[in-house]
Amino acid sequence: MRLTGLGVSAGIGVGTAVVLRRSTGNLGFGIPTSRVGREIDRLQAAREAAREQIRHIKDRIASNVGAEHAYLFDAQLLMLDDRMLVERAIEIIQQSRVNAETALQRTLDEISALFSRGDDPYLRERRGDVSDVVGRLCGNLRAGGDPLDMFRELEGPLVLVADELTPSVIAQLDWQRLAALVSDEGSWTYHTAILARSLRVPAVAGLRNASVVVPPGALVAVDGTTGEVIVGPDSSTLEEVRGRASKRARFEQSLEEFRRLPAATADGVAIRLEANIESPDDAARAQERGAEGIGLFRSEFLLATGGQAALAEEAQYQAYTRLISSAAPAPVTVRTFDVSETQLPIQHAGVDGSRAPLGLRGIRLSLSVDEIFQAQLRALLRAARHGSLRIMFPFVSSVDELRAAREAMARAAATLRERGIDVPRVPTGVMIEVPSAALTADLLAAEADFFAIGTNDLIQYCLAVDRTDDRVSRLYEPLHPAILRLLRGVARAGRRRGIRVSVCGEMAADPVLLTLLVGLGITEFSMSPTAIPLAKQVLSELNAGDAARVASRALRAPTAADVERELIEFLAPKTGVRGQG
Ligand code: PEP
Ligand code: MG
Repeated sequence: MRLTGLGVSAGIGVGTAVVLRRSTGNLGFGIPTSRVGREIDRLQAAREAAREQIRHIKDRIASNVGAEHAYLFDAQLLMLDDRMLVERAIEIIQQSRVNAETALQRTLDEISALFSRGDDPYLRERRGDVSDVVGRLCGNLRAGGDPLDMFRELEGPLVLVADELTPSVIAQLDWQRLAALVSDEGSWTYHTAILARSLRVPAVAGLRNASVVVPPGALVAVDGTTGEVIVGPDSSTLEEVRGRASKRARFEQSLEEFRRLPAATADGVAIRLEANIESPDDAARAQERGAEGIGLFRSEFLLATGGQAALAEEAQYQAYTRLISSAAPAPVTVRTFDVSETQLPIQHAGVDGSRAPLGLRGIRLSLSVDEIFQAQLRALLRAARHGSLRIMFPFVSSVDELRAAREAMARAAATLRERGIDVPRVPTGVMIEVPSAALTADLLAAEADFFAIGTNDLIQYCLAVDRTDDRVSRLYEPLHPAILRLLRGVARAGRRRGIRVSVCGEMAADPVLLTLLVGLGITEFSMSPTAIPLAKQVLSELNAGDAARVASRALRAPTAADVERELIEFLAPKTGVRGQG
């Protein structure tokens, strides 16, 4: 079986499938013969617990509502010992070598198929009861702990197939045994994909129903470049996939020489390449890949992995100190928490987790939960003395918000001074990722120390295309004329005010788009560390003067396709960069 989705983290991985269904909370995986007994024991224990629970419910109903209603639960008790349920699941564990949850799910599927054929009147009547009982058994299996704990016990290499993958799920996994990630949802700039790229784990997103159709324990080959997922490949396919993997390894090897070279265009324009990272521990690795600093530290990942405890000033101070001192003397730009209400690991008055992402998010949320923002700013200002720090605010939509954020920072500095702590001057910048900020870049430039253009969000909000929805990913066009105009305006505003402007969205990591950005006069970029060697190679063959000419032609093109044609025609004879990634 072959599935095709969006390749979101390049590379090839082959391993056995572990299926995580967040919707049911179940993890499905294949097991070695040595584990068969243990899975059967888990299932038997879940059955005994279910028996106790159902008896208890039955007694409660009998004494509170009346014995005539309690008989309903006798049927459920009988089901626990029905050959078609637990006994059948045990058979499946033994024959198919899968864990108890998967066996139960298959048993339920078989029973549902019987219902639909309608040849067993007893079961037809009991259909609701069966899924109730199976749900209870699965709940009891889960009660043994977080399903992800089981992941730790499995032998790699593994391909995690999930309906939904959040950064915090990935953060809990042991990446050494992870060959690839595959998810039903998501697309290119989805934060999980960004994390996968940082960890260099091949990933394919937006597969819709992979978590339903890929059997736990099946061998799966994943090509994160083409978006292909091959389930149960035969030996010749496997050989072909392995051939692709070694070709890719040779290509990466050929970029090695660029890692250490400073980035510059062929005509000598110096370019600054920094890295986007999500964990303080990634700073050193990013520098190894050739980054001159950390251009974007997504601080909210501290919350994804550390929960509520990560909000404490001291915990943050430790994390930022680790980050800043491991990068020093290279500079680090930390973005304050860019989360929406649902991602904030606390309950707070006025914060409503049911609202959409265009509600309280980024700087708006920080400004509305002052004590959280103050703790983050104090932690950052304290850590600043360990190296070179810049702070930037996400999701700014107006000068008012920038002023309010700077005022909050002045208060945090004053509190620290009262505590007798010296606070150095820390440059403050704005993420340009909301169209209103891009359109008023001249006004913001008068009050900010620097800009970092977040093209991931700028594109989604300018074009009204959800960046995580694979069904509209065709409309997510970085080369749309509207985006080019916004980028030109922001670059100009920065130049006129003499403030630094970088691009830290994923656009910068694509060689063709990077050429356009250089042509627009942008010379600072921050990207996933893995993209840096290729960017250096592309830049080394690029003439910035020519890039400026092609950018001005592109700015007159009426459609994204026309813009792309201009760029490809310009690049193809020189470098042949398309299709190498
Ligand atoms: C962006 O929006 O381009 C960006 C860099 O931030 P994030 O991807 O974290 O939203
Ligand atoms: Mg953003």
